[in-house]
Amino acid sequence: MSEHSVTAVRLDSASSAEREKIIVGVQDLLLARGVILPNDRRDALWQPSEWKPGPAARMAVVEPVDWFDAFLHTANNGVDICGDRDVYHPAENDEAPRCPHCAAGVPTVYTDSYGDWLEEWLTAGREPLFTCDRCGWSGLVGDWTGQFSVLIGGPAVTFHNWPPLLPAFTTDIRTALGGRTGIVVSHW
Ligand SMILES: [Zn+2]
Repeated sequence: MSEHSVTAVRLDSASSAEREKIIVGVQDLLLARGVILPNDRRDALWQPSEWKPGPAARMAVVEPVDWFDAFLHTANNGVDICGDRDVYHPAENDEAPRCPHCAAGVPTVYTDSYGDWLEEWLTAGREPLFTCDRCGWSGLVGDWTGQFSVLIGGPAVTFHNWPPLLPAFTTDIRTALGGRTGIVVSHW
């Protein structure tokens, strides 16, 4: 079965106390809206997440797609709220990001030194900076445009196999995460 997920991740670093506060804020937001509920039947293979779709999950998606009811009974439709810094990879969706000013592709050094900058970002916490070949704009990789590129950060909220989320809903989650945030849409 093919699976997909959407993750909203905080890119700016946060102390463990800040991360704890952010997680509580995100949980409160999602619980208050009825979008999630505690998953009382966690199962490593079937429903591994701590949270499951709540009574108002429907309100968080773009439109109640015809498979929505089936989705509520499908395997792995949970929500993870993860406090620790982690790598979020788009898997088969992997695509280099684009310049937010002129829409040119990120320079080839992104691909050529991919392993190096990813390693440094993960271990030393240094988010890489790239300069656009076409317009000269420079920015941290998380400020380039795209939702199919690897990001590292935390806390993060991941929706497993949900229908497309409402943009306003995604924005609210990013606001709750605070600081600079990014989106990673994965498929595998
Ligand atoms: Zn550019």
